[in-house]
Amino acid sequence: MMLDYQSLLLALGVSAACLMITLLGTWFSRRTDSFLLTLVVSLCLVVSGIVAYSSYTESSGIVPAALAYGLLMCGFSTIYAAAVQFRTAARPWRLAANVSLVSMALGLPLFLTGLDGLGIIMMNVLTALLLIGTGLQYWAARREAPGPLGGMVILYIVSGISFALCAAVLIYDGSLSIGHAPQNWAENLNVGICIAGMTGIGALSLALHQWRMAALHRHEAMTDSLTGLLNRRALFDRYGGRSFNVSTAVIVFDLDRFKAINDRYGHSAGDEVLRIFAQDLLAELIPSASVARLGGEEFALVVGEVMPGRAERIANDIRRRFAARDIVVGGHVLRCTVSAGAAVGLPEGQPFETVLNLADAALYEAKNAGRDRVELAPYLRSIPIAPVADSRTSA
Ligand code: GH3
Ligand code: MG
Ligand code: MG
Repeated sequence: MMLDYQSLLLALGVSAACLMITLLGTWFSRRTDSFLLTLVVSLCLVVSGIVAYSSYTESSGIVPAALAYGLLMCGFSTIYAAAVQFRTAARPWRLAANVSLVSMALGLPLFLTGLDGLGIIMMNVLTALLLIGTGLQYWAARREAPGPLGGMVILYIVSGISFALCAAVLIYDGSLSIGHAPQNWAENLNVGICIAGMTGIGALSLALHQWRMAALHRHEAMTDSLTGLLNRRALFDRYGGRSFNVSTAVIVFDLDRFKAINDRYGHSAGDEVLRIFAQDLLAELIPSASVARLGGEEFALVVGEVMPGRAERIANDIRRRFAARDIVVGGHVLRCTVSAGAAVGLPEGQPFETVLNLADAALYEAKNAGRDRVELAPYLRSIPIAPVADSRTSA
């Protein structure tokens, strides 16, 4: 024997309310502009709608019916808006309001004119469409976290289908005007599926939120916030302890007389120069390369699969391009140069840290030799540079 309908509704309301509180707590712990808050608002509307619907099943009045319709449609519209927000990061409120208004315009007149059966059919059809639409939004975003998102898609679509079934039964019975809440197998099945679906979707929404936050933290910990390049930690994470052979080069760059730029044009102009140089480094980026800001106005490029002489040419290309650039900041046009030091590993291997230090020493020599130049680590200078056909650089 199934539980009676009222008890099922109560269970649904309680599980929705618990879920709402959990999501609210999670959102509160890190108040990013998160789709979780939108879900909290939608659940608040859905829980109120369930309470109104429950009173409608007992008292059969027009007012509780219309109230339940309005609250539930606003709730499901907001659930849909949360999915769009998750996928596109757009603000959800206008979409939620528009969809709510359209669905109320479609359904409320039916209740007010006594066509309550038709109104309930409308509610079931619109809810089915919104839930399936929600599932499709998460489906479109599935690459971010295929596991949790795939589960959510299934749960939303199955819940949507259970609403469509309710509509189908009412249409089949021709119940356009019934004077009370419908009672049939599809309604019971619908509430059962919603309880299961709500619980599953709640758990998966939390998993998704954690997934997203963890990815964000990982990214933030590895990124230089000014330039968006890798930071020093990320570079050492990637290469620390690794052994470099002669085909892997490390080039370090240090902007020349950068302090003077800060002093003359201001710190924010200096920041802009750093960003522009970072863009230059990225523009030169080769698929196998890593670009990092080591700190201050020092940058590093790690390039794999370099032929002899290639590292020097890459460094010189970057240096020349930067020196020739008119940098426009805050109404000033300024020029800035950069010095670089380059080193490669050894045939028998050499730790990344050593290669970096050798490149640093070469950089120091470039500074001493007058700046705006590239120096190589001493053991590279004796290697004859074979002319290498190279489409990236012109002789
Ligand atoms: P050199 O040619 O010898 O490299 O001279 P320099 O002035 O570039 O070298 P120095 O190391 O004396 O000065 C580096 C300056 O970089 C000092 C510091 O104020 C500035 N700096 C470090 N980090 C930042 C930053 O994030 N933004 C800005 N605007 N300036 C920074
Ligand atoms: Mg400097
Ligand atoms: Mg420096």
